Amino acid sequence: MSPLPSDDPQRYHVAVRALCEFTAKRGDLDLRFTPTPTAQEGIAGHTLVASRRPPWHECEVPLNAAHGLLTVTGRADGYDPRLNRLEEVKTHKGTLARLPDNHRQLHWAQAKVYGAMLCAQRGLTDIELALVYFDVGTQAETVICETHSAPSLAAFFADTCERFLAWATQEMAHRRARNASLEAMAFVHPQFRAGQRELAESVYKAAVSGRCLLAQAPTGIGKTIGTVFPMLKACPKKGIDKVYFLTAKTSGRAAALEAIASLKAHNPSLALRDLELRAKEKACEHPDRACHGESCPLAQGFYDRLPAARSQAVAAGNGSHEVVRAIALAHQVCPYYLTQELVRWSDVVVGDFNHYFDLSAMLHGLMQQHQWRVGVLVDEAHNLVERGRQMHTGELHQSSLQALRHHGPAALKKPLDKLNKAWRAIHKAREQAIGEGAGKDVSEPAGGTLQVLPDIPSAWLQALQQLCAAIGEHMAEHPTEVDPALQAFYFSCLQMAKLADSFGPHSLFDWTPEADPRRSTLCIRNVLPAPFLKARLCQAHSVTLFSATLQPTAFFETMLGTPEKTVAVEVASPFLADQLEVKVARHISTRFQDRARSREAMTALMAAQFRTRPGNYLAFFSSHDYLQDMAAHFEARHPDIPVVRQARGMSEAAQQAFLARMTPSSQGIGFAVLGGSFSEGVDLPGQRLIGAFIATLGLPQVNAVNEQFKQRLDDIVGDGYAFTYRYPGLQKVVQAAGRVIRTTTDQGVVHLLDDRYARPEVRALLPRWWAIGESVKD
Ligand code: SF4
Repeated sequence: MSPLPSDDPQRYHVAVRALCEFTAKRGDLDLRFTPTPTAQEGIAGHTLVASRRPPWHECEVPLNAAHGLLTVTGRADGYDPRLNRLEEVKTHKGTLARLPDNHRQLHWAQAKVYGAMLCAQRGLTDIELALVYFDVGTQAETVICETHSAPSLAAFFADTCERFLAWATQEMAHRRARNASLEAMAFVHPQFRAGQRELAESVYKAAVSGRCLLAQAPTGIGKTIGTVFPMLKACPKKGIDKVYFLTAKTSGRAAALEAIASLKAHNPSLALRDLELRAKEKACEHPDRACHGESCPLAQGFYDRLPAARSQAVAAGNGSHEVVRAIALAHQVCPYYLTQELVRWSDVVVGDFNHYFDLSAMLHGLMQQHQWRVGVLVDEAHNLVERGRQMHTGELHQSSLQALRHHGPAALKKPLDKLNKAWRAIHKAREQAIGEGAGKDVSEPAGGTLQVLPDIPSAWLQALQQLCAAIGEHMAEHPTEVDPALQAFYFSCLQMAKLADSFGPHSLFDWTPEADPRRSTLCIRNVLPAPFLKARLCQAHSVTLFSATLQPTAFFETMLGTPEKTVAVEVASPFLADQLEVKVARHISTRFQDRARSREAMTALMAAQFRTRPGNYLAFFSSHDYLQDMAAHFEARHPDIPVVRQARGMSEAAQQAFLARMTPSSQGIGFAVLGGSFSEGVDLPGQRLIGAFIATLGLPQVNAVNEQFKQRLDDIVGDGYAFTYRYPGLQKVVQAAGRVIRTTTDQGVVHLLDDRYARPEVRALLPRWWAIGESVKD
């Protein structure tokens, strides 16, 4: 161990925890359900332990030391100079005896590394090391002590560092090679497409200045490569450690991986490690097993075989799921957990919105833990509003609670009964309030049975928290008993409890009766995801949110909570107005009450367009029912025109077959749902799609939930109707219409089937480059 040299960019900095995780983890992967304390419980536990120590006890002792090229840093939890005792505090739930042995070894490794550093820093000849296990339930401490001499700890420190040094040297060399090759990296085409350069420049500037960018850019200009390329270019200049490319759909992930592959193909010396993340259920090799060595062969000895698998994957530049999977299986380790490990050693990670934005997102957690500087690219960012809401919503069914009361473990009966009692009190209070004609918050909203409660009753919340603790303890006591119903209910309870912690005007607490009207579902329903998303947007070095539909800017700024200095750009379309005929059918109303009457006129208009210019068309409707009704009517009137219909819950293969029918030489009309899988992310250039019919304004259904959203958004932003209905509706319309013109040589037509398209407030939300005319009434 040597004294710490001055801050030198040629040195590799590693935290004690990361160093030990890399070198000291052995044996099985064991993710048997063991309740772990929450972050808040962990912090509270550490604070309580510290408060029990005498005044001379030192807390959070900063330590650092060097070994070769390594700089090791960390904070020991506590040191008592009178006892000469260093403490490493770990919080836990449930019986300590069940702590897997490899976890204990890891804890000792951390304590020894801290001990070595403290001895070196203070000239101690020996030291007592104490692992303090604090039970967050009982608040009891279990202390395990060992005394070590300074030389033996120094030897342990040196050995630990030596085992990491080769890897660190390799990583530093990779970083240098990565940065040099990124600086030299050329774009994949001799020139940018029209609009693509403007987009790329905006992304680069935002990345260099560490800002958030809201970029609306039309379809067909190559947005994926147009954002990946400049973000990578900014990495060496701004010391960006990683780029996260986040998508809402699988198709977006494939496009990102293709863009990276094309950059590598065009720049053979590009030293870049990319990685695809998949959901666990899609990456698991043994869905019928549990993630521990006694159940799954790929978890058994996972950490023993991990180093070789990790080395091979890193040498290969990581890559798609298929590449990592092949390596994982060759080494008999779980591909899903190998991928999680590889995030640490990757330059570009391609994943889902959830991986960064949800309450316990893995990419966000690692970024915070390792203090990475990350550039984030959010593809099809208009979807983040709805996805953000879903991530911050939770619900609990009273029927599930009742089932557990009757069939669940006897030990949980008391806390289950207590929650049920508090639930019944909510019913009673609600009935009383309705009886007394209380204010709007508990009244029956128009068009539905959902009822918003003014607040989360404290008795119910307290009962919920107690139940969470009780189930957690029960599961810790019985780790081999697997009860899927109990586990599912427990996860719902935890989500609700977490959401209740941050409950505020951004969310509703609502009540809906179940099939048995004596039971209800309680839901914390997010309306405005901004307060949650804002923190994530601010914590990254730079975030670019891009899509073809990010208008109006104020809507997205408000709903997503973009940071103060966010830059908004609108990239002009490379397409010319004469490439796309846009016609408004002012003689057609698709309002719900007019649909039967307007069927004939719509059918006539569609058939006339088809006969004037036969080819491939898509017709979009606001719901499956409307689609089926119109398709049946159309087929009856015009049996000679080929029709294909989108079906409910279509598999990915069936969706591909639907699109494969649309060839440069085929003809027909595909009936699809507006806002569904064929209305965005679908690329049908040239003759594969020459026109679209769009019925309705895409407005979300008027129902109890949306009406409550409208009311709440009225209170928060002032224009609840536009935020709930008009803006999201028109975004779907523009996305669907965007399927028609994909290249500068495409020619097509879009029929907007509703008289409301003539209204100025609706026209203002349509792309500026469209030249809008009127359909001639048949
Ligand atoms: S293969 Fe599946 S069951 Fe086995 S460890 Fe991986 S995720 Fe868990």
